[in-house]
Amino acid sequence: MANLGIPANTIAILNKYKFVFQKKYGQNFLIDTHVLERIIDESGITKEDMVLEIGPGIGTMTQYLCENAREVVAVEIDKMLIPILTDDTLKAYDNVTILNEDILKCDINKIVNEKNSGKPIKVVANLPYYITTPIIMGLFENEVPIDSITIMVQKEVADRMQSGPGSKDYGALSLAVQYYSEPKVVANVPPNCFMPRPNVGSAVIRLTRHKDCPVKPKNDKLMFKIIRAAFNQRRKTLINSLNNSPEVPVTKEQVSMALEEMGLSQTIRGEALTLEQFATLSDLLS
Ligand code: SAM
Repeated sequence: MANLGIPANTIAILNKYKFVFQKKYGQNFLIDTHVLERIIDESGITKEDMVLEIGPGIGTMTQYLCENAREVVAVEIDKMLIPILTDDTLKAYDNVTILNEDILKCDINKIVNEKNSGKPIKVVANLPYYITTPIIMGLFENEVPIDSITIMVQKEVADRMQSGPGSKDYGALSLAVQYYSEPKVVANVPPNCFMPRPNVGSAVIRLTRHKDCPVKPKNDKLMFKIIRAAFNQRRKTLINSLNNSPEVPVTKEQVSMALEEMGLSQTIRGEALTLEQFATLSDLLS
């Protein structure tokens, strides 16, 4: 089977099927074998694993996944890509299921139950950048059984996922990702590794799911409402941003008392709080 990580092979497939790139689907196909090998290495997949791939494209990374995993499920929204995958690039593999669906509407828990008896899977993908956050949050919030997620994302988003208080990149996404997993950027990838080239730098990040979340708020939904409210108006004091938020029904006085109990300044902004402090604040306000 021709390795699509070699640009000439990708071009041959695109020409054979007269494929037209759909910008709206974030289609930037990988054309670099070193990057592909790195993703596979860093994902730590073995012949025991079931892997979910989001957006296989023409099957470039799927070929590597089929070689290295027990079973692969690849979810692709663009129907024009399905015959390329089934009749051509993945034809040789009997351990792959291709689903022509929107990943955001897909019942992933059902797939994991059917294909992996509900046991934790690994997610590996070169993500469509326009829906990076909903995809990751969907996997976590729907409690899909997961070992790790190894994904190509926009470099700036990778930085946001692993930053902490005091950094301009720190925000609601950092806290959500770090609540559920341990993030680690494992490679930076320049635009020339893709066809067509994206306008932004990319990075591969591995999110290893925590066995136990590092904090245990009484009500994690409330904690995330507080986090979102704090960062929606990140230049305002925490007291003001929570008071202004319709999502968090608390008074200025209540927030003020909670901050005092935590030994924090009355003028502190949300961007200065750690995940642990958000959990404590949420418990005090609940
Ligand atoms: N995995 C391929 C590669 O590395 O060359 C393609 C990656 S490309 C960045 C993203 C892929 O996700 C495209 O094939 C695109 O059609 C697909 N995609 C976009 N939105 C999607 C969605 N909502 N559900 C499933 N697939 C989607």
